[in-house]
Amino acid sequence: MKLIDVRNVTLKYDNNIALKNISFSVDKKEFIGVLGPNGAGKSSLFKVILGILKPQNGEVRISEKTNISYVSQSVSFDKSFPIKVIDVVMMGFLEKRIRFLRGYSRKENDKAYSVMKKLGIIDLKDRQIGELSGGQLQKVLIARALVSDPHVILLDEPTASLDTDAKTEIFELLKELNSNMAIILVSHNLNMVCKYIDKALIIDREIVYYGEPDDEGIGQV
Ligand code: ADP
Ligand code: ADP
Repeated sequence: MKLIDVRNVTLKYDNNIALKNISFSVDKKEFIGVLGPNGAGKSSLFKVILGILKPQNGEVRISEKTNISYVSQSVSFDKSFPIKVIDVVMMGFLEKRIRFLRGYSRKENDKAYSVMKKLGIIDLKDRQIGELSGGQLQKVLIARALVSDPHVILLDEPTASLDTDAKTEIFELLKELNSNMAIILVSHNLNMVCKYIDKALIIDREIVYYGEPDDEGIGQV
């Protein structure tokens, strides 16, 4: 079975149709780019997949034991909040921590360190997040998503406010992570994502295109 199977999903806010009859699936280690203009329903689709919103029609099937992590837009992250990098990464365990009302375990600590090493941000661990560059902050948010060993990560515009070099670095990192996990990534920039993704899902409330990105054909959408 696929990791995630989105079937005929229709989502309305009152009478405003945000998603109309959307179907697609996510296989193990698949890299899917979700593309579309502002208001196309990209965030709504993520919320339906994460179970935050329930569609009026259709369903999202998630195969048993599939662990999904979400990386929010870094622009919506409050950089003035006084918190260290290591504590942001450890927030990846927050859900468990709340459940058990306990401190972090040695095992969680080791896991956070190994993820930060892998992402090349271990030297930043005691910095305040306000001191980081956009690319460094994005890596911290990705690290936070990785500590729970997800099978799928959802990323909302992970390179939105980054310069070209930092954008490329993040995509190269995602490509590497993709050898172990599926990735669903929201982007405005088709040209940038084209060479990394296995499939493009272009939506404008309904599906405009779903398939392999061929550099010429869909570049104009
Ligand atoms: P995107 O992420 O592609 O910009 P959204 O999923 O945020 O698109 O929005 C899709 C449509 O649904 C837009 O018309 C938006 O205004 C509307 N919408 C999104 N969230 C809400 C909400 N909480 N209540 C009402 N309408 C919403
Ligand atoms: P994004 O750029 O990530 O799609 P938006 O700016 O569209 O974000 O939306 C930000 C937040 O406002 C989201 O949580 C979305 O659900 C909500 N929202 C968007 N459009 C509306 C709307 N028309 N009415 C109420 N809430 C909305």
